[in-house]
Amino acid sequence: MSSYDAIVIGAGAAGLMTAITAGQLGQRVLVLDHSNKAGKKILMSGGGRCNFTNMYSGPENFLSANPHFCKSALARYTPWDFIALVNEHEIAYHEKTLGQLFCDNSSKDILNMLLAEAEKVAVEVRLNTEIHSVEKSDVGFQLNTGAGNFAVPKLVIATGGLSIPKMGATGFGYQLAKQFGLKTEPTRAGLVPLTLSGKPLDAIAPLSGLALTAVKVSSTDGQVFEEAMLCTHRGISGPAVLQISSFWQPGETVLVDLLPNQDAAGWLSEMVAEQPKSELKTVLAYKLPKRFAEMLCEQHGNPRLNSLNEKQLAEWAARLHAWEIKPSGTEGYRTAEVTLGGVSTDELSSKTMQCKTVPGLYFVGEVVDVTGHLGGHNFQWAWASAHAAGESLAGLN
Ligand SMILES: Cc1cc2nc3c(=O)[nH]c(=O)nc-3n(C[C@H](O)[C@H](O)[C@H](O)COP(=O)(O)OP(=O)(O)OC[C@H]3O[C@@H](n4cnc5c(N)ncnc54)[C@H](O)[C@@H]3O)c2cc1C
Repeated sequence: MSSYDAIVIGAGAAGLMTAITAGQLGQRVLVLDHSNKAGKKILMSGGGRCNFTNMYSGPENFLSANPHFCKSALARYTPWDFIALVNEHEIAYHEKTLGQLFCDNSSKDILNMLLAEAEKVAVEVRLNTEIHSVEKSDVGFQLNTGAGNFAVPKLVIATGGLSIPKMGATGFGYQLAKQFGLKTEPTRAGLVPLTLSGKPLDAIAPLSGLALTAVKVSSTDGQVFEEAMLCTHRGISGPAVLQISSFWQPGETVLVDLLPNQDAAGWLSEMVAEQPKSELKTVLAYKLPKRFAEMLCEQHGNPRLNSLNEKQLAEWAARLHAWEIKPSGTEGYRTAEVTLGGVSTDELSSKTMQCKTVPGLYFVGEVVDVTGHLGGHNFQWAWASAHAAGESLAGLN
């Protein structure tokens, strides 16, 4: 029997936070990770500046088969708890937009803070350690690893999702759940660029790099996000598209309101009255990037304003508010920020993240079927679920 009270598998956001919380409450915790570095996703997050939380993060910012599951943990460890920790470490940060908090300097600040907190409470982190097997035993769990065999009463799985395999992502958590007979929700890539093919791609690809600063993108099931959109050489991306990708299902159409909160019909009538001889692409370029306006108009015969009858003007107004785009797929786990689905929340206590049928076994962070919107919510879930589990390891809840 090893001298640890608990082992955490995964030295990412959720794994480190679990160990810190339990360590602060007097538990001896060992964190194992197969990677050569802790917190690789923290380092690459937020374009290198880690969007570490969102001031307005709440249950409505999460997708899950059970939307109520995340409530308890989120309420007991809020963005303000994490912000207090960041302040304590005097890490400079700013709100970029919509409550999203980013480091002023580097994601390294957040990782170094977590590693310092872990060290303060004698959490041991062993990297480059493969987990060969996990078995249930009389005392709890028997682990066979590259660093030897361990027997511990409590085991926390914080191995994250499948996105960015190059960074060490594996399906370990899902496989372990299956091994213990636990239900998992189907996994798929989320917060991921959407791809196009055929004519739509031919139209968009030449605009690669071009951004529309404020569009409203909506999915078939009525989700709407108003943020920027980006054309890429494979299709569309940018915050609004990443957000909608988590709701998009293959075969569905995405609608883009190119002039959100504006009256396209009224504006077009004014333009017809003011400059009837102008080409539509010329006036659309008052509102949209010029090359985007040209692309739209080329697809519909490049009309002049005075050639459009009432019906055609109404069609253009409708098109500007609901430009239809049918993605052929997503860029997949190679570039996805998160994995949707995962260990079913039916299997876990929402208070502690402990398995209902396997006492002593916990799942925290992205491996659980709770996925945040873009904007710092995924880290907030990692911190909050980890905090709940960490307290439970110490017998607090
Ligand atoms: C490019 C990118 C940018 C992102 N930016 C943001 C952002 O700005 N804000 C935000 O809120 N979210 C962001 N996210 C999402 C966020 O990074 C994750 O949701 C979060 O890291 C999940 O934390 P986790 O601890 O559950 O998993 P992870 O951070 O993925 O940690 C899992 C750990 O488990 C280890 N592991 C995996 N398999 C095994 C195994 N078989 N054996 C041993 N160890 C294993 C891994 O090496 C890793 O260290 C971003 C994601 C990506 C990919």
